[in-house]
Amino acid sequence: MADPRATEVLARVFGYESFRGDQQAIVDHIIAGGDALVLMPTGAGKSLCYQVPALVRRGTGVVISPLIALMQDQVDALTELGVRAAFLNSTQDWQDTREVERAFLAGELDLLYVAPERLLTERCLQLLSRGTIALFAIDEAHCVSQWGHDFRPEYLGLSMLHERWPEVPRIALTATATDVTRREIAERLALGQARHYVASFDRPNIRYHIVEKLDVRRQLLQLLRQEHAGDAGIVYCLSRNKVDETAEFLCAQGIAALPYHAGLGSAVRAQNQSRFLREDGLVMVATIAFGMGIDKPDVRFVAHIDLPKSIEGYYQETGRAGRDGLPATAWLAYGLQDVVQQRRMIDESNGDDAFRRRLGAQLDAMLGLCETVSCRRQRLLQYFGQSIAPCGNCDNCLQPPQSWDGTVAAQKMLSAIYRLWKERGQRYGAGHLIDILRGKQTPRVAENGHATLSVFGIGQDLSDQAWRSVLRQLLAQSLLMVDQEGYGTLALTDESRAVLKGERTLMLRREPDRASRGSTPRSKPLQPDLPVAAQAVFEALRAWRAGIARSHGKPAYVIFHDATLREIALALPDSLESLSHVNGVGVHKLESYGESILECIDALGMAT
Ligand code: ADP
Ligand code: ZN
Repeated sequence: MADPRATEVLARVFGYESFRGDQQAIVDHIIAGGDALVLMPTGAGKSLCYQVPALVRRGTGVVISPLIALMQDQVDALTELGVRAAFLNSTQDWQDTREVERAFLAGELDLLYVAPERLLTERCLQLLSRGTIALFAIDEAHCVSQWGHDFRPEYLGLSMLHERWPEVPRIALTATATDVTRREIAERLALGQARHYVASFDRPNIRYHIVEKLDVRRQLLQLLRQEHAGDAGIVYCLSRNKVDETAEFLCAQGIAALPYHAGLGSAVRAQNQSRFLREDGLVMVATIAFGMGIDKPDVRFVAHIDLPKSIEGYYQETGRAGRDGLPATAWLAYGLQDVVQQRRMIDESNGDDAFRRRLGAQLDAMLGLCETVSCRRQRLLQYFGQSIAPCGNCDNCLQPPQSWDGTVAAQKMLSAIYRLWKERGQRYGAGHLIDILRGKQTPRVAENGHATLSVFGIGQDLSDQAWRSVLRQLLAQSLLMVDQEGYGTLALTDESRAVLKGERTLMLRREPDRASRGSTPRSKPLQPDLPVAAQAVFEALRAWRAGIARSHGKPAYVIFHDATLREIALALPDSLESLSHVNGVGVHKLESYGESILECIDALGMAT
């Protein structure tokens, strides 16, 4: 049964007409004092699930979040909504701390953000004991998972909340979706009684593209220039070096790009992050150190120029695109070298066999996604145990690749490797093997007398690129492995035998022509275009918003989201009353900015 107070808060404070998905059920459950474990993809609206109950229930909602760098922005966004919010973390001086503590004790705070290490100090626990707590929200709850990519040991201490405040409802939230993570969260945070809410993890507005890596800089440039000119986005790389090089390269090409990785000083990191959030249209080139909790809604693309290690990580990273629900792109370029490199990294990693097997299985799933000929999104969601129909918004749906019978090609490749090893005791990497198959008279072939091998020149029917694709897929399917000792040399696996003996047919993916051009298919424009007149209003509103944001020193989206500005541009409200009906315009923002927006529209002379 819907709690009318929740709907009232949603409309008055946030300016939204209705709850989405499970929000209503979650909010009602928390208001009634229950615990909840919420799994929702990025952008689905997790924050409202605790913000609304915190406003309805008596006392302060305490939000535990590892994202100290973002707390200021979160509090600013709430303040813009007229919500009384504050944070406690290590960036504050004692005076600010004292003021926040006073406000909390006086019951003047609706929401209080705290870092977990801070929360667990005796001083903080004492403070909380003396005030009234509406609820505990444990954000980024997957940080409690030791196997996950964001493990924070302090999170393990949070199980004490339940012992100390058994009557206060707790809500744990995450965008990480696997069952394992979910069980770990429930167990480690003592959420045995919690009701679980698992949303669909589909993000239909994100278009997935995975392309063969050829000349990755050129391919990236093409993506940025042709499909995302002027857009904000993130480019993920595996190494710090590559981040620096790529950011420099983009800047030299006239694209405003900033680097972000753990090797940069914390001041530089903070500054680059803050610029990315505040300025329009910047490209952040980063390692995976960048991103958790980045709630910039208008990231229009996430590009990976190296293969991610797992689908889980990949889905989190790509999920940072298009939080505002408007169209966005997730683009990944991957090639043979990525497979070789990742397999080697796993072999060389510290940790026991079980650990390595786990990494290997994660990589295999990722490679399976790259090489699939069916819908990418289906494949992704399948990984999280959810099924959907083919999406119509990924490269494979938009331009289906073909599959071909690669059994004979695979046999040629495998027997070349076998012969070299058997007859000569030699192992080689991809380049030389392909030269042998294609019968190229290179110095290396001459030097080693490889032209006399029976396999020399048996693969002239396929191009270099096609052979690389075969090799990659053999590696992806563990029909070949990268030798542990050799320098990226290739060796057969137990499974190779069945293919060699002809006991197994092998269907392979054929790269569509677009791969060689590096461009991606386009069936409809990424941004549903506004009518020309509305576009002009939208631009004017954006300029107006930029001015306000600059003068307040806040990110533009804290003032209004693009989605709200677009709606205003279409509705052309001529009164505060009609403006108040636009999604995202609550009472407080209407008071702060209503007149100014109406003037802005009026100045364009277009109001009806
Ligand atoms: P998450 O934390 O799950 O990534 P957010 O809480 O940041 O997502 O919400 C994503 C976006 O969706 C925000 O812009 C938020 O204001 C908006 N949103 C959330 N719930 C609703 C709703 N019921 N109606 C309209 N917009 C919503
Ligand atoms: Zn699809």
